[in-house]
This record gives sequence, C-alpha cells and structure tokens, in this order.
Amino acid sequence: MAKRLPLIVGNWKMNLTLAGAKALAEAVVKGAADLPESKVVLAPPFTALGEVRKAIAGSPVQLAAQNVFWEDQGAFTGEVSAPLVRDAGCQYVVIGHSERRQIFGETDEGVNKKIKAALKSGLFPIFCLGETLAERERGETMDLLSRQLRTGLEGIAPGEFKSVVIAYEPVWAIGTGRTAAPGQAEEVHSHIRKKLELAYGIGPADCAIILYGGSVKPANSFALLSEKNIDGFLVGGASLEAESFVQIMREAIRAHKEKK
Ligand code: PEP
Repeated sequence: MAKRLPLIVGNWKMNLTLAGAKALAEAVVKGAADLPESKVVLAPPFTALGEVRKAIAGSPVQLAAQNVFWEDQGAFTGEVSAPLVRDAGCQYVVIGHSERRQIFGETDEGVNKKIKAALKSGLFPIFCLGETLAERERGETMDLLSRQLRTGLEGIAPGEFKSVVIAYEPVWAIGTGRTAAPGQAEEVHSHIRKKLELAYGIGPADCAIILYGGSVKPANSFALLSEKNIDGFLVGGASLEAESFVQIMREAIRAHKEKK
C-alpha cells in the first residue's frame, strides 16, 4: 500500500476579513512548523488570497481557492478562472463542494468541466462528492457516489488523474456537528478507491488521496484517519480557529504514524 502523507485542507468558506485571515494564516504557519509529516492547505475567500499568500510565503503551507469557472477569461461577471486563481498563488482549488451544488445549482457535468479547467492550469482539484441524508436513508449512497465519480472524472486521463484529490463529504455531516462514524466513512472511501481502481488501475488508485469532510474536530480526527482509506481532511468550522486546526493536524499525523 502506498504511504499517503496526510493532507489537511482548511475551508474558510465566506468568513474572515483581511486582518482575520492574516492572523489565522500566520498562526497556522506557526503550528505547521513543527509538523513536517503532513501537507497543509488553506482555502480562504477570494478576497483574502493575496493576504494569505503573503502570510504563508516561505512556509510549507499551500493555498487553495474555493471555486473556479471553467472558461479561462471573458465576459463572465462575478466568476474567477483557473489561470487567475493560479496567478493569485493557488496550488489547489476546491471543486463541487456540496454548498456549491445545493445553493448554486452546480451539476456533475459542470464539476467535470471545472476539474478539467483546473488541471489545464496546473492546479490540483479537490473534487468533492457526497450524499444527502435522504439519499443515504434510501440506500442510494454507493450508486450516487459512483455516478458523481464517473461523471466528474469523465475524459480525465490517468496521467491527469494523479493530480486530482477526492473529498468525500456526506452532506448530512457538513456544518451539522454530526460526523460519519469512522467505519461508515471507511466503507465509502474503500468503495471510492475500488471505483478508481476500475477506472485507472491499482497503482493510481492506491496513490490517490481521498479526504473525509464533515464536522471533523480534534476529538474525532485520530479515529477517522486511522482508517485504511482515509488520507486526510477537508475541514470547515474547525479550521477557523488555529488551535483546533493545528490539533487536527497533530492527530492526523499521530494516526498516520500508527497506520500499517
Ligand atoms: C466543509 O466545509 O467542507 C466542511 C466539511 O465543513 P465542516 O467541517 O464545518 O462540517
């Protein structure tokens, strides 16, 4: 099995002024300095990308945008393209977050176009997928995830796929305080890895980073990351405080070290 270094992504959503973003990024850089065994990425709102870029300069912490549009440039008022996001200093971009899907009507087909645009610009897309509570209760989780995965990755060659990060985020666990039990999350992560294996082969599937997201906190991160197919976290609420975010990083590394 590939030794996949834990990847911890902080999704700040629509929060923080420039001053707040600067202070939080500086505190994360300080916390990450003692933790070289993980990769840390911050996804501030677009307005704070420049400020966070300055705060993390010279540190291993990397930068993500929370969204992109699929066209490179032109008359698309209010949108931001992958080349612009790259130019702003991002290495990663979050794509298909459930809030984008539910509030802004994003579809699997649109997500696929965005992933392709991100890859074309040399960004690592963090491709989010997950089921609602109603879909889980109807027993549709695995079929739905297979469909989201198939459409989202349509036309993406194995050479490009190695830059894609997958984030399983059950919608019922995002911002609700309700986390998937470690075994419940592992069942889905293992299903995702099997599907990736069918699409891209054992090697690429084994190396793929599959994050879990949904009310991750310091208290549940060790147990979640101890699961074989959970390689890191996409963290919302708990990433808005340096102390909890850094503690999640610590717990993730501890779990990673104990993994066989
Ligand atoms: C998220 O924003 O992707 C998320 C998982 O949020 P929270 O950790 O607050 O549930």
